[in-house]
Amino acid sequence: MSETLSRVPIIDGWFTDDIDAPTLIGAKCSQCGTFVFPPRSSDCPNPNCDSITLDPTPLSRFGRIWSYTENCYAPPLPYVAAEPYEPYALAAVELAAEGLVVLGRVATGVRAVDLKVGMEMQLELDVSHRDADHEYMVYVWAPATPGSEAAQ
Ligand SMILES: [Zn+2]
Repeated sequence: MSETLSRVPIIDGWFTDDIDAPTLIGAKCSQCGTFVFPPRSSDCPNPNCDSITLDPTPLSRFGRIWSYTENCYAPPLPYVAAEPYEPYALAAVELAAEGLVVLGRVATGVRAVDLKVGMEMQLELDVSHRDADHEYMVYVWAPATPGSEAAQ
């Protein structure tokens, strides 16, 4: 059934749609090198930098859990939850090279009880929800496949 649905990102411009190796798209200050996510084109967040230009840039696909929790109840609109609602974990993952912490859903089937602070995670894509014509894709954090970071 899902073969007939077209895959679309739940939010445009936040991640690439390469199902095997998706990448978050952040932005980097052209003057001081500070990274931001979600991406935006202006206003460097570094208080010591007056740059107004941020350039789109791919972010690391791997990071380590900084904190995590579990959504036991569906978030309010505009979030669209799959029906029936299934609780899912959320993780804040620190990307060492960028000095950024990126919050995201954790892959389906991985619950908070399976996570630990410091655990290595990798970016993947998952289906958030479906309608009659579309599968809405979302980026998720999944426990990293052993050795996968070394292969990057
Ligand atoms: Zn800057």
